[in-house]
Amino acid sequence: MRIWKLLTILLLISFFPLTPIFGQRVEKISVSHDKNYYKIFITFDGKPRFKIFKDPKRDLITLKLSNTYRFNKEYYSVRVVGERNLITIFVRNPQLSTAKAKVIRKYRTLVVLIPFKHRKFFKYTVVIDPGHGGKDSGATYFGVKEKDINFAVALKLYKLLREDGRFKVYLTRKGDYFVSLTQRQKFTAQVGADLFISIHSNANPYKPYKRGVEFYVLSDKGKYRKFIDLATHPSRALYFLDDDMVRDSTVRKKVLKTTLEFTQEEGEEFAKIARRYWCKYLGRFIPCGGIYKRSFAVLKVPGVPTVLVEIGYMTNRRELNLLTNPRYQWSIAKTLYRAILDYFNLKMWKN
Ligand SMILES: [Zn+2]
Repeated sequence: MRIWKLLTILLLISFFPLTPIFGQRVEKISVSHDKNYYKIFITFDGKPRFKIFKDPKRDLITLKLSNTYRFNKEYYSVRVVGERNLITIFVRNPQLSTAKAKVIRKYRTLVVLIPFKHRKFFKYTVVIDPGHGGKDSGATYFGVKEKDINFAVALKLYKLLREDGRFKVYLTRKGDYFVSLTQRQKFTAQVGADLFISIHSNANPYKPYKRGVEFYVLSDKGKYRKFIDLATHPSRALYFLDDDMVRDSTVRKKVLKTTLEFTQEEGEEFAKIARRYWCKYLGRFIPCGGIYKRSFAVLKVPGVPTVLVEIGYMTNRRELNLLTNPRYQWSIAKTLYRAILDYFNLKMWKN
């Protein structure tokens, strides 16, 4: 008798996943907020079961459900994307604390509550990466080492952002020493950067007449390779994503895909802005070149918009003179600073 009861229960349990009638289809999504919380209401066609994953450094919240339908909702503060059994929420408003987000269930509705930070000031994290350093000098022409130009410009940009007060700023190296590309990537991910800018100087010894600035953003190939690498090596993914997200393979893959897309799209967005400012303020000195896609290692930081700027050609005497001139270095730093403000929708402080 007892064994039959047990078998019946087992049978019922085994049939349960075959009856996904309720709590799947998203019927409605809406947002609202009060003094304390930003709220996202997701209403299903039945009582949903869910698990929440949070990655505060990348401002991501993921809900794992039994199933869901594809949708993409854009709001000023958040972007809500549904795909298969996951709903991913990208938090764009720096006033919102992703780390303290929670979900409550009210029958058929999941309410995602994201509290506002109580600090008056919300800082954007910017990582500035002076290319090369130490034993790696980069290009050397006419007795000038690329690492020194890169560092001089990076330091000036660092100072401008520090003085502004609205940024948390980091340099991947604070002097003339070697830092590997992997270290630069991991550092950027670990500080939870909102933007990464790598500064380099170009060279083409065969074409000394070649001039101009060039911007580089993550290519599709680079994006795909990084995805495969981190999706198949969870231990490496731990440097870039929250532990819980990495452990769940479905969530890991989905989040890697979306964060790498974010890196690429937002990097391009910043590159476009930076190029526009460069054309306006510096174009008559160092011509504004294009935006190119590459799979450079430093560009592959999931969840962080990344851009590499080749600020001019060292093999062109005219440009090298400008690149080594502190006044011109300040102009480059100021131009990039203006672009950063524009990218974050911030206004210049009025003095
Ligand atoms: Zn370089």
